[in-house]
Amino acid sequence: MEKKNLFSDVDLSTIVFKDKATLSPHYTPPKLPYREQEITEVVALLTPALKKEKPTNVFIYGKTGVGKTIVARYVSDELREMCGQKGIGLHCIYINNKMHDSKYRVLVKILKDLWEQNKEYFTTKDIKVHDAGAPPTLLYETLLDYTRDQNAGILIILDEVDMVKDLDGLLYALTRINDELHGQGFVSIIGISNNLFFKRDLDPRSKSTLCEEELIFPPYNAKQLTTILNERVKVGFKEGVVDESAIRLIAAIASKEGGDARYALRLLKKAGELVEQGNGEMVLTANVEDAKRGVEEDVVFESLNTLPDHQQILLLAMANLSENEQRDLRGEKRTQFMSGEVYEEYKKVCFKAKEKPRSMRWVREYLNDLEMLGFISMQFSGKGNRGQTRFIELGEDPNKIKKHVRASLKIDA
Ligand code: ADP
Ligand code: MG
Repeated sequence: MEKKNLFSDVDLSTIVFKDKATLSPHYTPPKLPYREQEITEVVALLTPALKKEKPTNVFIYGKTGVGKTIVARYVSDELREMCGQKGIGLHCIYINNKMHDSKYRVLVKILKDLWEQNKEYFTTKDIKVHDAGAPPTLLYETLLDYTRDQNAGILIILDEVDMVKDLDGLLYALTRINDELHGQGFVSIIGISNNLFFKRDLDPRSKSTLCEEELIFPPYNAKQLTTILNERVKVGFKEGVVDESAIRLIAAIASKEGGDARYALRLLKKAGELVEQGNGEMVLTANVEDAKRGVEEDVVFESLNTLPDHQQILLLAMANLSENEQRDLRGEKRTQFMSGEVYEEYKKVCFKAKEKPRSMRWVREYLNDLEMLGFISMQFSGKGNRGQTRFIELGEDPNKIKKHVRASLKIDA
């Protein structure tokens, strides 16, 4: 009897979704419409690798959600496959520089991946460089030796490359390897960034290393986003459950937000989820409107969640003050509070949350951080006899802040 997997007939569909995973950022669609030209260009630039020659370094930039990451990964996967078929040694290493944000961390990540891809080499040579604490020069030497010994091509994708703190040092090291290799293997870089100003501020030498070739990915317009969304609706949703006007609205919103396909897909997914939660059957424009508010709130909440506890407590204190119906002399609800008042309320919240309050000096630092992140705004009063008093105002809806901080810190203060 043929063995059947216990999970093979499990139905993953829900009321509106056919396959929700296809709406996640990790899903790779089989087609990437409106990026044909960019793909062709990257293919042309990487083609020397098939002749064991070093491809020029490429720098891709463009706003968020315009397909930079997905195109770079797609083309490098195809290249790796073709090199595999032709018996050419090529390693493609994808690095998200948000996570690996220094020269050291990037080198460790490169060696870790090489080790994964060729354990035999490292075991035979008894090298364990990627353990924490390996000296930087050892990392560099090992990468150099590996590339030379294996006559390997190494293609490194540095995604969000502007996040690397000592980028000049990293780029210098990676180019120097090529000088020392004398054509025995190569290291090539694809750099990716959303930050349009980043290149301008680069050290000239780094700039010429990174930007040997440059590709700019334009934002998607509403019509293009509509096509991209329609493709996902086909695979992700049951037939006929997403109204066309809802798709058009998402496309219109996302094209105003910089032509961001990621945002469009997020809205689509959220709208579907809201329909399910409300036991609805169709995704309509009203659901998109709600999804937009929901997604904005999610974004604030996600960044709020990552704040240190005491900064969250401070925000909660601000929200309490704003909610406490304090009226000023004209009978209007106050939105601005003095630093002293905020500190008093902060201590109260700390007490309820069973946290030891930090000193006023610390709290001043926290307020600066929160202002930088856009959660609050501050104004200094003129030099009164009390020195510099600051007036502080919450930038977000106090109710939402309360809800999210309480949930995040699991407190009821
Ligand atoms: P970037 O790196 O430019 O910020 P991504 O490559 O991560 O953008 O793309 C964002 C999201 O949009 C991903 O989920 C990706 O699958 C999707 N996407 C981008 N471009 C296309 C396209 N042309 N067709 C289909 N999906 C796309
Ligand atoms: Mg990206």
